[in-house]
Formats: sequence, structure tokens, C-alpha cells
Amino acid sequence: MAVATEQLVRKIVNMLASARRDGVVPLHRPLIGDAECAYVRDCLATGWVSSVGAYVDQFERMLAERFGVGHAVAVNTGTAALHAALLAAGVAPGDEVLTTPLTFVATANAIDYCGAVPHFVDVEEQSMGIDPDRLGAYLERTAVQQDGRTVNRYTGRPMTALLPVHVLGCPCQIRELAAVAERFGLRLIEDAAEAIGSTVAGKPVGGFGLAGTVSFNGNKLITTGGGGAVLTDDPAMAQRVRHLTTTAKPAHRWRYDHDQVGYNYRMPNINAAIGCGQLEHLDDWLADKRRLHERYANVLAEVSGVHLFEPEASVRSNHWLNAIVLDAPDAGWCGRILEQLHDAGVLARPLWTLMHRLPMYGECPRDNLPVAELLADRVICLPSSVGL
Ligand SMILES: *Cc1c(COP(=O)(O)O)cnc(C)c1O
Repeated sequence: MAVATEQLVRKIVNMLASARRDGVVPLHRPLIGDAECAYVRDCLATGWVSSVGAYVDQFERMLAERFGVGHAVAVNTGTAALHAALLAAGVAPGDEVLTTPLTFVATANAIDYCGAVPHFVDVEEQSMGIDPDRLGAYLERTAVQQDGRTVNRYTGRPMTALLPVHVLGCPCQIRELAAVAERFGLRLIEDAAEAIGSTVAGKPVGGFGLAGTVSFNGNKLITTGGGGAVLTDDPAMAQRVRHLTTTAKPAHRWRYDHDQVGYNYRMPNINAAIGCGQLEHLDDWLADKRRLHERYANVLAEVSGVHLFEPEASVRSNHWLNAIVLDAPDAGWCGRILEQLHDAGVLARPLWTLMHRLPMYGECPRDNLPVAELLADRVICLPSSVGL
């Protein structure tokens, strides 16, 4: 069916007319409230600005409660959270980690930082997350058990972990993926960077595997300026993450010992202070995001050839970014729409370049990736700030 490009652009531009600031509507703009300002002033006034302080502890407690997990460890980026979670899960140099090609580059980079190799598997169209059925069938053909380990029969490398992503805030089929991970002896780490507040059957994503990670970068729903966290129910896992992210220094009143190569990944108190204020808004902002999603749904319902990225009924997305999906592939469509939207000051953007098309990951092992490759040129992310 032909896509009414001009009608689509006009409807989106009209819908966002009152949201312009300096002539443009950005993709995402952070909102900072009075509580955040007060807590930061408190840090400045007391001198507790750096990597220890009461706000870090409070933020971790609030996160653990929000995600329904036993432990949250706050760190300085979402990327650091992924790196620390993979290391603490035992991902070692020369291992392979199964992941999605349809993600922000940090997911694959964190695997590479461990000396491990990303191994890309395909997604399914509705959630844009890893397809559990295809993954199971692929592992049947690709994985063998050797001395209690799961090994890639073609490369000979151990396959140690599965790292799915909840894309644009929409939960992937995490319960089904957890079952596949269990069947093949893979440790499950969730990249929930974009998905704070999203749930599957009422349970927050990020809490389904051995660990989950979240980001508090300025473009995410909740920001600490920069930041991230590792979430886990496993006390030993939490302890390893805490140790690795604080230069692997055993606690002692005065001694500076380090028992392995560690990282300086802790979240400063001043950032955690912002996070404590931000979390107070989360439920209001989730409701606001849902209303924005419904407005986009109404606008797009009248346009043929496209639909709004919509989770299936049993899951709840935080709708971090709303996205238009073109019903059928059409070469050059994304570029045409993006040009017209940008000319009109609407700063929409495409999905990321697929990971296996980036120069550093082009040679990584992978299944056929037909769904990801078709989706990559059919999706446009729309401005989705709270308060639009
Ligand atoms: C934002 C993001 C990250 C990394 O978070 P940073 O805080 O920017 O390091 C990782 N994965 C995904 C899917 C993201 O969107």
C-alpha cells in the first residue's frame, strides 16, 4: 500500500507544533525538578560530591525496590553497568556472548571490553527483541556440550551468556529467552538501559536474569546526568559488581590493596542525588509517556502504510521512544521522511546501524538476520520527551 508521506509528515508536525523550543522539537529532553536541585545543593553544601555518600545508598535502595530485585549497584554509565555485569557473570576473554544486532553500540562494546566476541542472532518484529524460537533452533544447530560447557561447534569458543535488549523501552520476550538460556546453560544478562518502568506480566524488566542493567544518561527516561546501575537478586553477583566497580579494593580502614584489575566505575553522590529526585517522578512520567503514545497512535491510525511500534497486550512499555514502522520495505523511505521532518524542525531519527554492519563487528559470528535487516530501514523514532 502506498504511504502517504506528506500526510504523515504534516500530521506529526501539527501534533508537535506547541512543543517547539527555539524552532525545534528534540527527540528527548530531560526534565529536572525542584527535588533534584535541592538534593544537589545538599551535596554541594556538605561536600559529599564524590563517589561515596548517602544519596548513592539511597538511590541504590530506591532502584532495588523499583526493579523488584535484592540489589542495585549504581555506576557512572550504562555502558559500565553492562561491562561490570558481564565480567561479574564470568564472561572471559575468548568467550562468545549471544546478543542482538539491533541495539545501541554500547551493548556490543561491553562484550568486546571483556575480550569476548558478540555473536548476533535475529529479532522478531513485534518487540524488535531477540526471537526466542529462532534462537532455540539456532542453538540446536550451533551449540554443543563439552566438559560441562556450551561451545560453538564451528568456532570452538565457549558460549557463556545471552544479552538481550529491551529496544526503545519495549520488553522483549524475556521469559521465553530465559527458558532458552536455561536450556543451553547461558547466563542471562538483560540490557534494560532504555526500559526503566517497563514490565512483563507486572514484573519489571531488568529482573529476569542473573543481572540486568539500566542507563541514566541524559537521553533516557530517568537521568543522573550520566549513570547506570546493575540489578541482581544474587548477593554474590552484587558483591562482585561492587568490588569490580570500586577498583577491586578490599575494605580496610587504611590499606590500599587491590586483589584484581578493577575499574573506577562508581556513581558520584552528586549524580545519585539527581537520580533520587528523578525517581520521585517516575510514575507520573510513565503515565505521561502513555498519553503521548496514545496521541501518536491516534494520529498514525489515519495514515495508510505505517503503524506505531506497539508492544503486545501482555507487556507494558515505558514508551521511551515512540516509533513509526513502515508496513512494507520501501528503499529510501526513511531518508525521505527524516529529511522532511528535520526540515520542519522535528528531530526524528532512524534506528541504529546494525552492529554487524559496523566495521569492528563485521566479522563476528552470526545467524542469518533477515528480520533485523528488514526492520533497520523501516523504523523512525519520534520525539518522545515527557511533557510534550
Ligand atoms: C543508552 C544505552 C546504553 C548505554 O548507556 P550509557 O549510559 O549511555 O553508557 C546501553 N544499551 C542501550 C540499549 C542503550 O540505549
